[in-house]
Amino acid sequence: MHTPKHLRRPPHEYASVMLEVTKGCTHNKCLFCNLYQGVEFQPVPLEHVIEDLDEIASVERSPHRVLFVGGNPMGLPNARLVPLLELVREKLPSVSEVGGYLRTADVKLKSDADLAEMAAMGVTDVTLGTECGWDPALERMRKGHTAADILEQCPRLEAAGIKYSLFYLGGFAGAGKCEESARESAKVFSRLHPVRITIMTMTPYPGCKLREEVESGAFELAPESEVMRDVATFIANLSCDTLIVGSHDSNLFRIDGVLPRDREGIVATLEMRQRQTNDEALAPLRMRMLAM
Ligand code: SF4
Repeated sequence: MHTPKHLRRPPHEYASVMLEVTKGCTHNKCLFCNLYQGVEFQPVPLEHVIEDLDEIASVERSPHRVLFVGGNPMGLPNARLVPLLELVREKLPSVSEVGGYLRTADVKLKSDADLAEMAAMGVTDVTLGTECGWDPALERMRKGHTAADILEQCPRLEAAGIKYSLFYLGGFAGAGKCEESARESAKVFSRLHPVRITIMTMTPYPGCKLREEVESGAFELAPESEVMRDVATFIANLSCDTLIVGSHDSNLFRIDGVLPRDREGIVATLEMRQRQTNDEALAPLRMRMLAM
């Protein structure tokens, strides 16, 4: 396999066959991200993809799902993406689902016909790093999309028949701003229909610009109790039916459940954790976390 061993994938893709079709991220500007530093975005050469597919076909018994790997592989122009999807069909005929990361800003660049073509070619669902629905924080972190973009682009995926999972990043707005950010984000996410929302916690990983800002004092991280309050407020105010996946390694809490059924239990768990949390003791732990 040309695909390197240590690749990032959303937690719910643990069982998917991973196929690297791009390297890097076309945006590569989010202050909190160190995934693709020094990596120039480029599609993986087609011959490498073909060789990897042949190898997968020789070792995997009837895989049903493939994950296209990279920062935003589903953002490739259809002229490049569709031949990759055709290759999956040809080499792995048992595969009925293809997923991968897609930026909100990428959806904007695709026409409705492009999205319909992706769905027809087997793209069943995508994962978007929305992170937050409050513009001041999105802008501050250079996410490259706005709340209005999220509200415009996710329904276009739905109309094309492509499901989506979203990320919400607790503590994204920084100290003292999480309550407002959580309430505004809940308003935005409530108008969507995500299959799941994966909860992570804002962490200044080594090498990312956010770390420099935290160390210089230009950005103040929300203390852990405020992060828990942020996530609790977000979920308490979220009115869409969805899965909450909150067992990511960056979280100093574990919450998983189905909304609305498990809302009260999740919020109660977070409130209990918040009361038990010693912010001062946990601050060094956050700074020791190494990888997204
Ligand atoms: S968070 Fe996602 S969009 Fe932002 S730089 Fe990292 S990979 Fe790219």
